[in-house]
Amino acid sequence: MSDSFTAMVIDTVDGKQQAAFRQLTLADLPDHDVLVEVAFSTVNYKDGLALSGKGRIARRTPMVGGIDLAGVVVESRSDKWVAGDKVVLNGWGLSETEWGGYSRYQRVKAEWLIALPPEFTLEQAMAIGTAGYTAALCVNALEDWGTIGVDDREVLVTGAAGGVGSVAVSLLANKGYKVTASTGRPETHDYLASLGASGFVERATLSEKGGPLQKERWAGAIDSVGSTTLANVLSQIVYGGAVAACGLAGGADLTATVLPHILRNVALLGIDSVMAPVAKRQRAWQTLGQHLNPVHLLALMRIEPMSALPKIAEDIVAGRIRGRVVVEIN
Ligand code: NDP
Repeated sequence: MSDSFTAMVIDTVDGKQQAAFRQLTLADLPDHDVLVEVAFSTVNYKDGLALSGKGRIARRTPMVGGIDLAGVVVESRSDKWVAGDKVVLNGWGLSETEWGGYSRYQRVKAEWLIALPPEFTLEQAMAIGTAGYTAALCVNALEDWGTIGVDDREVLVTGAAGGVGSVAVSLLANKGYKVTASTGRPETHDYLASLGASGFVERATLSEKGGPLQKERWAGAIDSVGSTTLANVLSQIVYGGAVAACGLAGGADLTATVLPHILRNVALLGIDSVMAPVAKRQRAWQTLGQHLNPVHLLALMRIEPMSALPKIAEDIVAGRIRGRVVVEIN
């Protein structure tokens, strides 16, 4: 085990949060019960906000960034895990209140970890990451609501070429739903079609304010954009349908009316991945194991070294990342 190792640490400098590489030792890590050697992490939108300083994600500093990690247990004071176990961690406050995955070694609580699902490698688990696991939470929530797939009406995915969107398109298509992708990047249409999208909606048509009850079009939707887009999507859902809303890439505001809800029985299903209970997480990973096509997973991911973290963070906040980026921790 090396004496010191590289981590990406967010600090407060002149009242502002800034991220930089720093050398840490095991003695610097929190006193949690499981020591993990991290092999891979990833960059989600929230990581982009945290590292670029564009959002105040860390609630205390110094804070090791990275809301996800995948690696191998080195030492454990918990009887839940033994050295050599391959594990995955999504959320639970990493990079907010707890030190995260951008570090060769990290100490975490035993109950935050899940065993690496047998269908995936450590690298693939981070190609999925919080974004992909959230897409699965959204798919499960829509299916539980029960109105997608009852006829051949389409399911809409907004922010489709991003991380949540790409995995959502692939999962829904693999389950046999007709998927329409909303994207602001027409150059991603071939990519989205390869993941299973059969229709496209230009992002701008949803981001401009429309009426409160528009033509009923979507059996359901997965929205990672929020703001005017979410208001328009709600007003285009068929009678009895639902939107699983998880994101704010287009803004955190929501100016809408109650009309779709009280006249069309439309549901707005809120999706949180960070504090989701273990049973929901396990079900989401089962959905991924059963329905995420490995060829799609390969198509939607790329691997970058840890040194690329600052650039990837800028790119994801600017909406320039296609699919998912895995970060090799070394
Ligand atoms: P990505 O950046 O990978 O994807 C976001 C996509 O949204 C972009 O690719 C782009 O898609 C679209 N987009 C970006 N900017 C705008 C804009 N100004 N207006 C409209 N569309 C825009 O991020 P992630 O997939 O990692 O995350 C997506 C969202 O989901 C984020 O807001 C994130 O915070 C949230 N999230 C929430 C979770 C939860 O627990 N609730 C968990 C994970 C993510 P395109 O180019 O195709 O138009």
